[in-house]
Amino acid sequence: MTRKLFVTTALPYANAAFHIGHMMEYIQADIWVRFQRMQRDEVDGQLAPRTVHFVGADDTHGTPIMIAAEKEGITPQAFVAKIAAGRAQYLDGFHIAFDNWYSTDSPENVELSQGIYRKLRDAGLIQTKIVPRFYDPVKGMFLADRNIKGECPVCHAKDQYGDNCEVCGAAYQPTELINPFSVFTNATPILKDSEQYFFKLSDPRCYEFLKEWLNTPGRLQPEMVNKVSEWLGESGEKLADWDISRDAPYFGIPIPDAPGKFFYVWLDAPVGYLASLKNYCEKQGIDFNELLNDPATEQIHFIGKDIVSFHLLFWPAMLKFAGHPVIDKLKVNVHGHLTVNNEKMSKSRGTGISPLRYLNLGMNPEWLRYYIAFKLNSKVEDLDFTGEDFVARVNSDLIGKYVNIASRCAGFIAKKFDGKLAASLSDGAQGWIKRALVTADGVERQASIAANFEAREFGKALREIMEIADITNQYVDENKPWILAKDEAKIAELHDVCTAALILFRQLTTLLSPVLPGVAANVAKFLNDEKLVWADTDVASGAVSQAMLGRTIGAYSHLMTRVDAKMIEELFDAPPAATPAATAASTTASTTIGTAAAPAPATGIEELAPEIKIDDFVKIDLRIAKIVNCEHVDGSDKLLRLTLDVGEGRHRNVFSGIKSMYKPEDLVGKLTVLVANLAPRKMKFGVSEGMVLAASAADEKANPGIYILNPWPGAEPGMRIR
Ligand SMILES: [Zn+2]
Repeated sequence: MTRKLFVTTALPYANAAFHIGHMMEYIQADIWVRFQRMQRDEVDGQLAPRTVHFVGADDTHGTPIMIAAEKEGITPQAFVAKIAAGRAQYLDGFHIAFDNWYSTDSPENVELSQGIYRKLRDAGLIQTKIVPRFYDPVKGMFLADRNIKGECPVCHAKDQYGDNCEVCGAAYQPTELINPFSVFTNATPILKDSEQYFFKLSDPRCYEFLKEWLNTPGRLQPEMVNKVSEWLGESGEKLADWDISRDAPYFGIPIPDAPGKFFYVWLDAPVGYLASLKNYCEKQGIDFNELLNDPATEQIHFIGKDIVSFHLLFWPAMLKFAGHPVIDKLKVNVHGHLTVNNEKMSKSRGTGISPLRYLNLGMNPEWLRYYIAFKLNSKVEDLDFTGEDFVARVNSDLIGKYVNIASRCAGFIAKKFDGKLAASLSDGAQGWIKRALVTADGVERQASIAANFEAREFGKALREIMEIADITNQYVDENKPWILAKDEAKIAELHDVCTAALILFRQLTTLLSPVLPGVAANVAKFLNDEKLVWADTDVASGAVSQAMLGRTIGAYSHLMTRVDAKMIEELFDAPPAATPAATAASTTASTTIGTAAAPAPATGIEELAPEIKIDDFVKIDLRIAKIVNCEHVDGSDKLLRLTLDVGEGRHRNVFSGIKSMYKPEDLVGKLTVLVANLAPRKMKFGVSEGMVLAASAADEKANPGIYILNPWPGAEPGMRIR
């Protein structure tokens, strides 16, 4: 049978535009989906395309949106519609191909959420209790979990929401927070009695089910199985009933037969996955219930590590006891967060990356797709974005290795052979193709690459693809088509070499197409392929070469440019002046809800970077450098050009943004400290071969100076600092 995949990403809260963490999750899911769409499954001896439904939606309900809409003087519906209207530019911009983008504020979601609730109630899993709820005495309203912040009762992280901790991932009740405060008024919430509706997660049936569900092989990542097992306890004693109701006024879905009560936003948010699918099915003429009941249907969620309690406890239990048919085929893939230079992203520290700014700078979205894919694996690990690493990775792999093959060979096919590839290949060329595509152990690389895409080991898949590119470049380097082209007697050899190289280039493009869909579409056009199909990557069947031999191809046009390092500097949000670093609101990869600012710390000292090991430190090679010359840089009001002697028998050119503080003549002859093993960086004014160290204050207003380091007498150029 063909697999039928129902794939979702976490529903973003509809109170803000997407940030780069959202894009990371969507890119991860989109690559997986595109890979699946290229696969065929066997049905009655025939290969049939795999079915994939990839849907998303805005998470629209809850108090924060209600309050934000009230502030703007519009209805919550109008507020979320405005946010929804801004989504397409991000999704289209980064080639994220959802089949449907919908909303949790929809008739489908009302029907499905209320339906699930009624079934849970019929199963005896809904209970009401009179409970004290937090109430803001200043604003005069009950407070939702996310309207309350305080210290995590588990790990004691400050400034955590009332429902779960974004630092340690624990789920808890807002009453368990230490030193809670209302995010609206900063008032200390008081407790007031209210009748609340609970989902009885403490029921032994939930524990029995969850234990088995969790431990089904292949369903969850091992670290998630461990984490949720901890939450279950030895026999479910740690499972607490879940309060699923909120008091009016609330923007949400009414609880049936309970006037003035609404579903807590986290009850109807995941149901929004199904609502979006149902809406899509209606538009496509697919029978929604039949699809859900089909044993071939698998439900796959991509989410961030901060929302696992909702997806690994409540959601599966809800689906199970509401009789949802695909609960047995539910998989949840959890990813870590995106950090920038090993820090949590923060606008106030200038480390946030705006996806729109990225696009507006003219940066290629497929650079980011490749970079993120290269760093992704199947584990719940944070992924770090570093500007220099990004530039080096993209320029080396995509331009230096991949695009380079076509740009060195395609021109000769057009010029010398009327665009026609050779009709057959020499034994030598066939040998190289095999060497590139099959390992010494006889394993077809495409099969192992496919297995890695399937397992979300994208970094491994791309490393293997780049091995093919390396061997292909070695082939081109050894045969030098640009030399062959000068000798009429070698025309057949030229044809042979360029044809084999382009066959491998097509193979590489097909394998890369889940990651680089735009480039792949252009290559397909240039090679006169209607569409690149994974089946053509099969080496044993001869599919790789057969389709290409004797084929006429189109004219090659430039596929991708190099990343200009200058773009990276412009990419980062400029930090607003004098914002204390410690108040930075962290940005996570999944549903996040707007926050009020926490009080500023008294000191202006920058927050310490995360702890490192000595091994991390020794990677940085710091050397004493003598400034042998220093001059102004024409056209720059910040930079000085330093000529440095680092004891290497040559001089280095380094630019430094210290012009506001030093006159060139004052620096000549002085010693300073250089990061000597930093990758050379191409700047507007030339290449900078390292970086001199300088100190500056976090608060530029208080002290705008930048101070370079000067060693004590006795230090000599080239000495290492350790
Ligand atoms: Zn915590």
